[in-house]
Amino acid sequence: MSTISIHPSVDRGVAKGDPNFQGGTLRCHCAQDPVTVSIRGNVAHNHACGCTKCWKPAGAMFSVVAVVPKENLSVTANGHKLKVVDASAAIQRHACAGCGVHLYGRIENPGHPFYGLDFVHVELSKDKGWSAPEFAAFVSSVIEAGAARPDQMGVVRARLRELSLEPYDCLSPVLMDAIATHAAKAKGVLRA
Ligand SMILES: [Zn+2]
Ligand SMILES: [Zn+2]
Repeated sequence: MSTISIHPSVDRGVAKGDPNFQGGTLRCHCAQDPVTVSIRGNVAHNHACGCTKCWKPAGAMFSVVAVVPKENLSVTANGHKLKVVDASAAIQRHACAGCGVHLYGRIENPGHPFYGLDFVHVELSKDKGWSAPEFAAFVSSVIEAGAARPDQMGVVRARLRELSLEPYDCLSPVLMDAIATHAAKAKGVLRA
């Protein structure tokens, strides 16, 4: 058993998703008047992320983050507590002003490759059946985040592989190809 903690939701093994899952409710950490967000259907591209911007629980080395079509997401309670963390970022992360949890991240730029998708953390839900994390993104960034020392990275990557979370230092090949395809179409070097 590894002593490296990746994230509390995967440290004891990655739970499988349910292909028939119909969605559920995310809830922030406030004991009173929590912000709730309802998601219709399941999430996609769930993954561990080592970047410095995603919300993660205290002590976690990685966040666990997935996407959902923005039309499938609605704020259902206490939305007045939500504030955008960094208005200049590509992903507008809407955080609860009370507890700091990020309820969803939205891309407002229609030219962005992931426009139309919201980023969410399914650990904020008690519902079971969310799609399982499939890979780990921005792994080297955990050094920049101060979550790991450079000499720990071999152990970190080995633990991710043990959990079947293939480590990448950007996004997964599927998502990098999607970004490059979007850019190629925008430039006209690739025709549909
Ligand atoms: Zn809160
Ligand atoms: Zn991230």
